[in-house]
Amino acid sequence: MIKVDHITKQFGKLKALNDVSLEVKKGEIVCLIGPSGSGKSTLIRAINGLEVPESGHIYFEGELYDAKNKKKYAAQRGKMGFVFQHFNLFPNMTVLENLTIAQTRVLKRSDQEAKDMAMKYLKRVGLDDKASQYPNKLSGGQKQRVAIARSLCMNPEIMLFDEPTSALDPEMVEEVLEVMQDLGKEGMTMIIVTHEMGFARTVADRVIFLEDGQIVEENSAEAFFDHPSSDRAKLFLSKVM
Ligand code: ATP
Ligand code: MG
Repeated sequence: MIKVDHITKQFGKLKALNDVSLEVKKGEIVCLIGPSGSGKSTLIRAINGLEVPESGHIYFEGELYDAKNKKKYAAQRGKMGFVFQHFNLFPNMTVLENLTIAQTRVLKRSDQEAKDMAMKYLKRVGLDDKASQYPNKLSGGQKQRVAIARSLCMNPEIMLFDEPTSALDPEMVEEVLEVMQDLGKEGMTMIIVTHEMGFARTVADRVIFLEDGQIVEENSAEAFFDHPSSDRAKLFLSKVM
């Protein structure tokens, strides 16, 4: 579904991504793991088009993902959901409005269709009773579940998550991870940047370990956590587990 082909991204002299290639198949759950500054966010942002690599290519469903090809790019981008660490909800809109606005504006759904879709996904994340609340009345975990529901309303083919739980109080992490785990069980393709090793181990099909903008190890979750093949991953795991 996603193919990243030898991409490089520099910030000034720093190579945030240095010749990175990977492939994610439909239905796969891939976790990106690595130390701070290793390029995880840059990689997932590049996959979504939020960073533009200097060299290399990204393919989405077999076709080049290229901002220059405006119409196709917009259509491709619309099929990717992106969930950020800091939720990025619109503070001046109710939960329901947060979920309907892009549906009516971008997908041209009617108000009723958009509302029905919003309520369906709010129910899925257990928050249909919060539809008329404003985001500042919600807990962090609830905000993140709303953000996930908002993405799902756009019927994405793939969901990208950049540390969706790292801004949350510990007691709220689980409720968000559960929503993600359920999505995975339903067959959603997902790429997840996470520091939640227990989650990665149980939910990921594959783990990609990055350091200094390069993929150091790519392995099944089981193999990665039980017997990582690189010394760097061993050292990393010994510190975080
Ligand atoms: P963390 O776990 O802390 O989120 P990360 O693996 O997501 O780290 P990135 O945010 O991808 O790391 O950053 C990779 C490198 O690129 C870092 O050295 C970072 O300082 C640098 N970098 C990222 N974004 C920018 C930017 N917009 N301008 C300059 N440098 C940047
Ligand atoms: Mg990051």
